[in-house]
Amino acid sequence: MIEVAVPVPVFNTYTYGVPKDLADDVVPGVRVLIPFGKRKLAGYVLGSQTVKPAVRIMDILEVIDPCPLFPDTMVPFFRWMARYYIHPIGEVISEALPSGINPAEMTEFTCNDSGREVCEENKVSGREKSILSALFPGPMRKDALCRALSCEIPVRMIRKMEQNGWIRCEKKMVKGRTRVLTERYACLLSTAIPESGLSAVKQDILDFLAKNSPVPVSDLKQVVKTAATHIRHLEKIGLVRIIEKPVYRDPFGEKVLPDTPPELTLEQKLVVRNVSRAMGEGFCAYLLAGVTGSGKTEVYMRLADEALKRDKSVLVLVPEIALISEVERRFRARFGECVAVLHSGLSAGERHDQWLRIASGAAPIAIGARSAVFAPLMDPGIIIVDEEHDTSYKQENRLRYNARDMAVVRAKLAGAVVLLGSATPSIQSVHNVLGKKYIELNLTKRIHSRALPEVEVVDLRKYKAKRGVDRFITPELHQAATEALGRGEQILLFLNRRGFATYPVCAQCGQPLKCRHCDITLTLHKKANIYKCHMCGYFKAATSLCENCGSPSIKQLGLGTEKIEAAAQKLFPQARIARLDRDSTAKKGALIKTLKSLRNREIDILVGTQMVAKGHDFPNITVVGIICADSSLSFPDFRAGELTFQVLAQVAGRAGRGERPGRVILQTYSPDHFAIESAKKQDFMCFFNQEIGFRRALSYPPFSRLAQVRISGRDKTKTARGATEAGLFCHRSQKQDQEFKLIEILGPIEAPITKIAGSYRWQILVKAPGADILRRFLTEALFKNGFSQKKGGVLVDVDIDPFYLM
Ligand code: ADP
Ligand code: ZN
Ligand code: ZN
Repeated sequence: MIEVAVPVPVFNTYTYGVPKDLADDVVPGVRVLIPFGKRKLAGYVLGSQTVKPAVRIMDILEVIDPCPLFPDTMVPFFRWMARYYIHPIGEVISEALPSGINPAEMTEFTCNDSGREVCEENKVSGREKSILSALFPGPMRKDALCRALSCEIPVRMIRKMEQNGWIRCEKKMVKGRTRVLTERYACLLSTAIPESGLSAVKQDILDFLAKNSPVPVSDLKQVVKTAATHIRHLEKIGLVRIIEKPVYRDPFGEKVLPDTPPELTLEQKLVVRNVSRAMGEGFCAYLLAGVTGSGKTEVYMRLADEALKRDKSVLVLVPEIALISEVERRFRARFGECVAVLHSGLSAGERHDQWLRIASGAAPIAIGARSAVFAPLMDPGIIIVDEEHDTSYKQENRLRYNARDMAVVRAKLAGAVVLLGSATPSIQSVHNVLGKKYIELNLTKRIHSRALPEVEVVDLRKYKAKRGVDRFITPELHQAATEALGRGEQILLFLNRRGFATYPVCAQCGQPLKCRHCDITLTLHKKANIYKCHMCGYFKAATSLCENCGSPSIKQLGLGTEKIEAAAQKLFPQARIARLDRDSTAKKGALIKTLKSLRNREIDILVGTQMVAKGHDFPNITVVGIICADSSLSFPDFRAGELTFQVLAQVAGRAGRGERPGRVILQTYSPDHFAIESAKKQDFMCFFNQEIGFRRALSYPPFSRLAQVRISGRDKTKTARGATEAGLFCHRSQKQDQEFKLIEILGPIEAPITKIAGSYRWQILVKAPGADILRRFLTEALFKNGFSQKKGGVLVDVDIDPFYLM
C-alpha cells in the first residue's frame, strides 16, 4: 500500500494498492495514475502506507514517471507546508515542481529493426502497432508521441516494448541557451628551466603564469602577442598544461571568468569559522547582518565550499530581480559547473534541465529566487538566504508562502545550517536573534575600509511654497548633482512611483480620474499618452474628459518617475538621462541595455523606482537623490515603517561603492520619523529598537501571528454577504474552545482598496498568540463546520503571515 497526494483541493492524502507488476516502479516522488471517484488523476507517491484504512482500497492504474521528481527526504517538508499554510498537500507539491516538468516526456523513443519487423508481421497489439508505426519516420519524444496518438502511453507498455528489443529509449536533455561553451586555460606545472634554456619570451610567460595560473590563453595573448605558439612548446616540454574550462556569460554577454578567492578579512574569517563548525551538527540558524559592501557574498561562497567538502549540497536563495543576480555570477566564477540556477528568466526547457541536474546530484549548488526553496537537493548542508528582508520572498497567489521562512523550516527538517544575510535585517529575524532562536553574526566594515555614504536629510516642508516639480528637486539636491556632473560622476534619483502624474484631478469639479474596475486613481503616462491603472492594466486616452462633469481640463497632480525625468532634463539640459522602472523595461532587453549604458557611463542621471535599489553595483554613482522618502510611510500596513527603512537604506547603499565617497540627499516631509532617522544613520538596530516597541504595544508580529482572510467576488452585495458569513463563522468558533479566547478577530471590513479588476474585496484579520492556535482556529472556523470557501461567485482564501494588507 502506498500514500498518494492528489493535486485537488482536499486536505488529506489517499491510500492505494500496487499491483505486483508495478511494484518495482513505485518509489516516492513518482507520479501514478489513480482512480479517483469517477475520474482518473495523476497523484504523487509520498511513501509506503502500513496502516490499513477502514475503506476498501483501490489499486493504482499506472506509473507515470520513470524516475522520481523529488527526493523522498522532501516529503516531510511538503507535509509541513501543507499543514502550516492550510493548503492541500497535492497542490503544495505541484507548486513546488517547475511547471511543465515531466521527465517521462523528455524520453525519446526510436523504433528498432525488430520493432519494424513485428509490426509488419502483425505480431503486436493494436496499441503497440500504432506506437511503432508512429516511430517509423524517426525518433520521437514522449510528449510528441502522446500528442500524435492523442492518448497517454503507459510505462508498462513502454518497458515491455523496450525489453522485447522493439524500441530504444533515451533520455534527452533539451538544448537551450545554457549550452556550455569552453575556453582554453594554461596551467603552470613546473618552473624548472630545461638545460637547453628558455627564450626570454617563454620566460616572461612562465613568470606571468607563476602569478596567475590558471589563466585563459586569450588573456596571455594580451600580455605576449605570440603566446599561443610558445605555450604549445612549453606544453610539449612539460612545463605547462592546457585545459578546457567551461565559460559562462553574464547578462551583458560577457564571460564570467573563474576567480581566485581573496584572503578573508578578520571579520569574514570569524563568520566562516563559526558557521562551518556548526555544519553537519544538526540544525542551526544564523542571521548575518553586514553593511552593504562588507563581503557577505564572499562569506556565502566560502561556506558553500565547506559544505561541498563535507559532501553536502548547497541552496542559495536570492530576491527575484529581472536579471540574474550578482550572487549568481560570482558563484559561477567560483564553482563553475557545480552550479544550477532556477529563476523566471529561464525557458521551461532550461528550467527542466536545471531541475534534473539538481535532482541527479550533478549540480550540488542550486541558486534561485523564491521557488528555488523547492530545489530537489538530496542532502543540503547549508541554506543561504541573501537579502532576507526582501518582500519578493513572499508569494502572493495560490500557495501564499514565504520562501525565507520555508528555508528555515527546510533546514530544520534536513538538520542543516541556515544563514540569513542582509544589510537591513527584518524585524522578525532580529527578534529571533534576541529570542535566541538565531545566532547573530556581524560584518561591520566595508571591504577596503570604504566609508558608508554620508546621508543629508532635506526637509521638504521648507519648499512647500514652490510650485510644481521644483519643489522636489531642491536647491540642495540640485547643487549636489551639479557638482557630481562637473566631476564626471553619475547620479541616481529614486522615487517609488512610476508614470508622470499619479493623481490626475478635474480642474472644474475636483474629482480624481478613477479606474473603471478598481477603487484607485489612474496614473498619467506621458510617453505612452494614456491614463493607466497600476492594478489591473486598464487604460484610456490621455485626452479623456472628466467623467463627472465632462471638463477637458485635468490637473496633473502627484509625482511619478516620468515627471522627475522631465524635470531633470530641464534642469540639466546637457546631461544624458535615462529612466529605469517597470514601464521603461517592459520591452525585452531594455533593462540590460539601460544597465549596460549606465555601466559604460553613457548615462549621467538615472531616474528609477526600487528596481534600481537591488543588488546592482555601479562604482561611479556618487550621488543618490531620494526624491520623497515618506511616500510609503502612510500605507495602511503595520510594516510600512519597516519597508520604508529598508528601501531607503538599500538605495542609499548604492552610493559610493567605488573609490570615491558617496553622498545621499534624502528629501522628506517627516525628517523626525524614526524610520527616516535610522535610514540616515543606516543603522538597523536603531530602527529595530523603536519599531519593536510599537509592535509590542499593538501586539503585531513578531509578538503575534496574523492571518488574513480575504473575501472577494464580482457581485458587490453577495461579496458583502459572504464576508459577513465568514465573520459569523469566525466568531462562532471562537466560542467553541476556551483557548480561542486568545484570538482577536478584526473585521470583516472592506479592504483599503475596495475593488481590484472588477472584484469587490473584504477582509478579516485574525491575530493569535502562536502559529499552532492560529491554524487550529482557522481550520475550525473556515475549513470545517460546513463553511464554504467558494459559494455563489464569492471566494474566501487565507493568507498566513500576510505581507500585503491592502
Ligand atoms: P556584500 O555582499 O556584503 O554587499 P560583497 O561580497 O559584494 O559585499 O563584497 C564587496 C566587494 O568586496 C566585492 O567586489 C568583493 O569581491 C570584494 N571582497 C569581498 N571580500 C573580500 C576580501 N576578503 N578581500 C578583498 N576583496 C573582497
Ligand atoms: Zn469634473
Ligand atoms: Zn484598474
